[in-house]
Amino acid sequence: MTKAPQPDERPHQRTTDTDVLVVGAGITGVYQLYRAREMGFSAQLVEAGGGVGGTWYWNRYPGARFDSESYTYAYLFSKDLFDEWEWQEHFAEQPETERYLNHVVDRFDLRRHIRFDTRVTSATFDDSSGTWAVGTEDGSQLRARFLVAATGVLSVPYFPDVPGREDFRGESYHTGLWPGTPVDFADKRVAVIGTGSSGVQIVPVIADEVASLTVYQRSANWCTPLNNAPITPKEQQELRAGFEDMCEVLNTSIAGFLHPVGDRAAFDDSETERRAFFERMWNSPGFSKLSSNYTDLLFNEAANAEWCEFIAQKIRGIVKDPGVAEMLIPKDHRFGEKRPPFVTGYYETFNKPNVSLVDLKQTPIIRVTETGIETDDGEWPFDVVVWATGFDFGTGALTRMGIRGRHGLALEEYWSDGPRTFLGVQTTGFPNFFFPGGPHAAAGNNPRYNGDQVDFITDAITYVRDHGYDTIEVDAAAEDKWTAMVDRGAADAPFGESSYFFGTNIPGKPRKYLLNSGGRPKLFKEIDKVIESDYKSFRLARSSDRGHGRQR
Ligand code: NAP
Repeated sequence: MTKAPQPDERPHQRTTDTDVLVVGAGITGVYQLYRAREMGFSAQLVEAGGGVGGTWYWNRYPGARFDSESYTYAYLFSKDLFDEWEWQEHFAEQPETERYLNHVVDRFDLRRHIRFDTRVTSATFDDSSGTWAVGTEDGSQLRARFLVAATGVLSVPYFPDVPGREDFRGESYHTGLWPGTPVDFADKRVAVIGTGSSGVQIVPVIADEVASLTVYQRSANWCTPLNNAPITPKEQQELRAGFEDMCEVLNTSIAGFLHPVGDRAAFDDSETERRAFFERMWNSPGFSKLSSNYTDLLFNEAANAEWCEFIAQKIRGIVKDPGVAEMLIPKDHRFGEKRPPFVTGYYETFNKPNVSLVDLKQTPIIRVTETGIETDDGEWPFDVVVWATGFDFGTGALTRMGIRGRHGLALEEYWSDGPRTFLGVQTTGFPNFFFPGGPHAAAGNNPRYNGDQVDFITDAITYVRDHGYDTIEVDAAAEDKWTAMVDRGAADAPFGESSYFFGTNIPGKPRKYLLNSGGRPKLFKEIDKVIESDYKSFRLARSSDRGHGRQR
């Protein structure tokens, strides 16, 4: 291995505006900016939005909040930061998270390295210098050695192609593109289309304010209570005292949660015990209904069916109109087949006299008109239409950024049959380009997994710099192997093909599993192998304009 060069031998500063250019000021991008600067790189971040937050900047709809525990979603790299920020609730609302991320940026003096209102529209790899030329919507160009797209998996909102959508003359919003100024719902006739995690969060929060609320549901979801609560002063103290232990669990657990993992299969218990256990699950916080539930819940049909029947009974107990209750009970998928939403007062909302539910499978939307929505049973006037219709998951942002790798290879073409990656961080033909938190990441508490990827990327580019190389590019064989592992995982995944984790919510998108079902253990194992083998899965090279063109 080549000896680390002295600083004056390093070409990076001569040819670029910055060593590392990060795209996206969400929780992952901000961490990447922090880590790159910590390791002595020059680093800048460009962000399409006007502020910090990413998901927590764009999804400002009423009711948007975590469904991972606030302190488990937050950064863990600084105990001082952890100590000084007191999360108000176990599951924080969007404004608090946006404030937190702004605090982090200022606390670590990162704001001066961020350019807001700057959308990347092209990024072209220059083989001779081993750098990226990045173009932005406002016409500016930046040259960087390393390009890190922390652009998020759920960042390109999806609007279904409903005829007349553009004709509507009232107010129209997507939950994932919510305006910065509050929307006034008072006394308005409001339609919400979509009942995924976003739709079921906004519905109960606006119901009391509006004149009428019509919820358009295509598929019912298995919603269970979030069971949020304020964090008491005693709990605040315990969180601080238990920081190290908490990090240990979060940094090693499969899905990045604190919830203890279940230790019994469903039919190890008697029917009475099962009923009591399900009751405890129903009353438990957030994702513990998945992590701490019966070990065979997602893989044993009979166990899953019992849990679903338990939830169905809960819905029938809450919703007074039996017809509406039946519409709210999923009939087309089992629990966990889609990413389950967690709710606060969602089912109760349908008992309010001004709230109605439309089953789009019975009564499809024909078109949007200038004044409302026309379905099979007539035209209904609205003042506001909210599209809670989801996102182009995983690849949406990356394939729209005009990324061109070696020999002009377009990322969207290279991935036209689905993404190909190694560790969900790099793809062959695109040297020095990384995408933490992109496709082939694992399901779970996103910042934990994405943070692992950022740490890996930071180690990798530090290795490249310190060993006198200019470029790092994953070998095709390593990419093939990881991609095949992801494809194979689709067969064993708890998620079904109706889940957006297969890209099936976007018309024309290839049906490919987009998650690493090996989760963090698989990621850690592969990262260890990479480090132990001195980055053998990657081609490390010096760029040809340094006169060497040498590679390993
Ligand atoms: P989503 O889960 O993809 O839900 C989209 C909804 O729109 C579904 O109900 C879908 O129906 C419906 N839809 C799509 N096309 C439609 C059409 N043509 N006509 C009628 N309805 C249509 O999107 P999301 O609710 O924005 O959530 C996406 C993800 O964001 C979540 O799974 C979660 O990971 C994240 N999120 C997290 C939180 C949180 O609590 N932290 C909150 C919000 C979102 P079908 O089911 O029939 O396709």
